[in-house]
This record gives sequence, C-alpha cells and structure tokens, in this order.
Amino acid sequence: MENISEFKQFLSQPRNAVILTHFKPDADALGSSLGLAGYLKKRGHQATVITPSDYPDFLSWMKGNSEVVVFQKDKAAIAQRIIDQADIIFCLDFSSLNRINELGLMVKASSAKKVLIDHHLEPERFADFEEWDTTAASTAQLVYHVIKNLGDQAFIDADLADCLYAGIMTDTGGFRHGNTNHKVFLAASELVALGANPYQVSKFIYDTNSIERLRLMGYVLSEKLKVLPEYNTAYIVLTAEDLKKYSSQTGDTEGLVNYGLSIKGIRLSVLISDRKENIKLSFRSLGDFSVNDLARKHFNGGGHRNAAGGQTALTLDETVKQFLDLLPAYQQQLKN
Ligand code: 5GP
Ligand code: MN
Repeated sequence: MENISEFKQFLSQPRNAVILTHFKPDADALGSSLGLAGYLKKRGHQATVITPSDYPDFLSWMKGNSEVVVFQKDKAAIAQRIIDQADIIFCLDFSSLNRINELGLMVKASSAKKVLIDHHLEPERFADFEEWDTTAASTAQLVYHVIKNLGDQAFIDADLADCLYAGIMTDTGGFRHGNTNHKVFLAASELVALGANPYQVSKFIYDTNSIERLRLMGYVLSEKLKVLPEYNTAYIVLTAEDLKKYSSQTGDTEGLVNYGLSIKGIRLSVLISDRKENIKLSFRSLGDFSVNDLARKHFNGGGHRNAAGGQTALTLDETVKQFLDLLPAYQQQLKN
C-alpha cells in the first residue's frame, strides 16, 4: 500500500468499518474478512462483515461467523443502513464492484473511505487505499501483510490466525498450486507461530463432508466427468436435478473442477452447473492457458490465470454448447 501512513492515520481514531467480500464466499474471502474484522475490533473500531450471499457450512467455525450479515434481497435495507453508517469500507477478495450486485451500488454511492485488498486480475480502481497484488496467493496473506505493516502483528490471536491461515491454505489448494511460494510458507509459518492450528483448520475445511457430498462426488466422477482429448479438456455438467438429488448445499461442488485437471495431460477443466440464480462456470487451467481471459471474454467473469469463474443467463444446454463451440478456436493454445 503506497499511502500506508495516511491509512494508519485514518485508523488512529475509532472508526465504523464495513467489510465486504464476494458472492458465495470461499475460505479466503470469509477468512480474510473475519480475520480483518477481528483485528479492527481489537484495535477499538467497530467492524461488520456483510456477505452478498450465504457460504458453506464448513466455514462456520471461524471466529465472528455468528455476527456476519448475509445480504438478502428482501432485506436490503439492513445492509443499506450498515453501509450508510460506515466511515470506511473494505472490499476483500474481489476486484470489481459489480461482483457484489446491489451491494456494489451501495458502496459506489457511499462517501466512506474505500479500501481494496485483493489478488485478482484487472481491478476496478475505486479505492482510496489499495493492497492489490496479483502475485499473492491469497487475500488472507495480503490482510496479514497489511496488519504487519501497521506494526500490529501482536494483535493477531490464535482465532484470527486460524481465519487467515485458512485463506492461505485453501487458495493454494493446500499448498499445492503453482502460486505456492516462499512468501506463502513464510506467512503461514508466522501465523502458526501466532497460534493458528493447521491440523484443526484443515480438518474443519477438508474433512467435514456430508455423506451426500461424497455420493455427489462419486456420481460426478463415474458418470459426469467428460474428457475431450483433442482439446486436453475435461468438463462436468451438473443439472438442477443432479444437485437436488444429492441434496447439494452451498460449497458441496467446491473442488470438483480440480478432478478434471488432475487427469494426466489435461490443461483445461470446467464445471458448469445450473444454479437457481444463473448458470455458473468454474474454470481451472495449467500453465499459461488463461482462464481469466476465457471467463472475462465469454462468460461475464474473471479471476486468476489458472482459476476463474463466470456465469450466463442462458439455459444449461445453451451454455454447454457455447463452451464446446469455443474450443476449436483455442485448440492450438490447449496443446501441450
Ligand atoms: P471458483 O471457480 O472457485 O468459484 O472461482 C475461482 C476464482 O475465480 C476465484 O478467485 C473467484 O473469486 C473467481 N471468480 C469466480 N466467479 C467469478 C465471477 O463470476 N467473476 C469474477 N470476476 N471472478 C470470479
Ligand atoms: Mn482469494
């Protein structure tokens, strides 16, 4: 952050902070938000986390979870009131205000100071203070960095360290993705020194499956995962009926897209699912094939080079067709 001393100065008196993160928050989105909220509270500020939608149950252990305000369309006035009272608004783990729908409009209209802490590509420049680094593996790591640069590492207790550690762990795929570097291990190590418990966090996040979720996974792997060797591509299409049959809950499909990428030779993997609100696409790739570009150009989305998402307002079949029809144009790029 270039103007960190001004930021520090702004936080030198008690402030009313609102922290926003992206739709369907994952462990990095929620962990960085609750980690930051906990820190701000310890520093004598008020801090409220608002999420644009619900999030998986396997994140509910995070300290501060019970105070999170989950935005609901029919209760938009609650979020509006909280945002109206804010003198500082933090936007975490997303780079464009239209990703948070109605909340984005409220942020735009607010005269509060805005802070962007994020690691996604091509951000919108709306913030007064930015900690934006696309080389960072996670937003949680950036929040940790900011707190450290404010000289406030000592305010991070074990509960906050767990929240931040969770973001680092999941956005690196459990320290396995290409973004896992020296800085990741350093931050993770320091958080463990501050009390984070790697075993507990990984147990909560990876090993608290419902039997329905495992059955869904089994069904997807045996019947739904398709491979197109000529394009080094794997894809999964989940209908609303599939999701209903396995009583799919928010978060149950997380990680499925990675199975496609785990097949030898596959460079592009996609999960296309029929959500109530829209058709959601989740992309993963290997090497220099940019799913950020693909999602941005064709599916109203974006993200990172090797992990991105998008959506359409088409039907499921139309969306699948649109995706498959695009592949010939990318065949050369998808070659090994
Ligand atoms: P996932 O596939 O796990 O939902 O998302 C992968 C990455 O892409 C995450 O970093 C996520 O924030 C980003 N992403 C997912 N959906 C969208 C979207 O609709 N728009 C943008 N800009 N980014 C997305
Ligand atoms: Mn993230």
